[in-house]
Amino acid sequence: MEEWTSGRYSAGCRRKEALQGCSDGFVALPGMKSPDGSLFIARGRSKYEDCAAECSRNCSCVAYAFANLSSSRFGGHVPRCLVWSGELIDTGKVGERTGETLYLRRAGMAATKGKRIKSNAVRIVLPVVGSGVLVLICISLAWLKFKGKNKKGTMQKNIRLEGMSISDEFEEENSPHDQEFPFVRLEEIAFATHNFSETCMIGRGGFGKVYKGMLGGQEVAIKRLSRDSQQGTKEFRNEVILIAKLQHRNLVRLLGCCSEGDEKLLIYEYLPNKSLYATLFDESRKLLLDWATHFRIIKGVAKGLRYLHEDSRFTIIHRDLKAANVLLDADFKPKIADFGMARIFGDNLENANTQHVVGTYGYMAPEYAMEGVFSTKSDVYSFGVLLLEVVTGIRRNSISQTMGFSSLTVYSWNMWKEERTNELRDSSILHTSPDEILLCIHVALLCVQENPYDRPFMSSVVFVLENGSTPLTSPNLPAYFARQSAATNQIRTDILRPVNSFTLTEIEGR
Ligand code: ATP
Repeated sequence: MEEWTSGRYSAGCRRKEALQGCSDGFVALPGMKSPDGSLFIARGRSKYEDCAAECSRNCSCVAYAFANLSSSRFGGHVPRCLVWSGELIDTGKVGERTGETLYLRRAGMAATKGKRIKSNAVRIVLPVVGSGVLVLICISLAWLKFKGKNKKGTMQKNIRLEGMSISDEFEEENSPHDQEFPFVRLEEIAFATHNFSETCMIGRGGFGKVYKGMLGGQEVAIKRLSRDSQQGTKEFRNEVILIAKLQHRNLVRLLGCCSEGDEKLLIYEYLPNKSLYATLFDESRKLLLDWATHFRIIKGVAKGLRYLHEDSRFTIIHRDLKAANVLLDADFKPKIADFGMARIFGDNLENANTQHVVGTYGYMAPEYAMEGVFSTKSDVYSFGVLLLEVVTGIRRNSISQTMGFSSLTVYSWNMWKEERTNELRDSSILHTSPDEILLCIHVALLCVQENPYDRPFMSSVVFVLENGSTPLTSPNLPAYFARQSAATNQIRTDILRPVNSFTLTEIEGR
């Protein structure tokens, strides 16, 4: 029929099909009922071969039959060529006697199969994808709800702690704004510490007594400052806000403060595992720490100090770094305490001469102890001494343990010179690593060199401790090695003068 040859296809498409043909081949299905919607090819298609060729030539032809049509329309039992395109509708096996042989194009079968697969795929994939999307939506909603709740929780906490909430990770960036910083009333603190009772006291240092208490549902350590601070309320508050902005996982977190009348108090996070000093030099407690923990503590302190010196908004020189000022949290992670105290006690100059020497003998760099000159390098010196204490388990000024040498630094340097460094380690430390111990002693001796310019910066110290194998220079003479002049001895005597067992020391600078 006309429609078939001049049907829907463009001339170009037809020409291409005519040239190439459709080489799919046909499958003969005898005894089939003729599908609906056939096209009757009239002209010149009276032979079976012509009919097959006609269907082969047109790729849209899915089947053909060379049927004996008995309809009056076709004039009795005359074999005629019938072709089908599209879907075969209403066909099936009816038996060889009544049915026709239907020649089905293989591609048609594939297409039919493909369609089935496609429709199966749609049937399977759609629900899977649909339910996946639904689950995703549910998760998103639940997460949003959780986030909302969390935010609410944080806000509630903020209200309770009046702004005491700073992230571990984002340290300074998330520090409280001045207005948010919690200024706690003296009345509340007195209540929390049972009116500063002895039973709540957990320590006493150069800056005052320390109490444990509960504030805002949280355990805190409250430092009641001695009256030595010359600052007025406003300066004190400004200073505290500044210090509170220093936030690092290896610094004890300042949570709030109080300034009423003569009273000045600082509120810190409470650290349950005492100080490094109380752990290192206690025969039973020191056994709690294996070498890996010792090394972690050393690296943590180094990072805290690096932050104070180099990474915070303004340079803070600790000026009293020592084992007693390193507190340990529940997991024995170290946190440096008492940073910024020099500022509160009225000496805000950095890297300058000072009339007040605040520090602890044995940890103090010579230029600071003797001339009052302090810089980040004087803290590096203190770190070196602390490092030697951690590795050797020897107190910095224990003459009996340092074989008669004047200090731990001088003793260690001598052992280094004699290549007996491996004898320096604390024999009670379990699971040691000789390489790491050697590295620590090497770094420590670099930190305690006489000349401040020879000492490394804390960033270099952290790098070396973290990366190990960097080649290091040989340490020069440690401080105090040659300086045994009368003047030095006089200063030493002055410094050693006990001040109610506190270590805050005040001597006149030159
Ligand atoms: P100094 O002030 O003379 O350097 P120090 O560092 O020992 O000496 P403080 O910082 O006042 O003095 O601390 C005294 C003791 O209080 C510490 O050794 C520690 O046991 C305890 N302490 C201080 N702060 C906290 C804290 N945040 N959590 C738990 N305990 C603390």
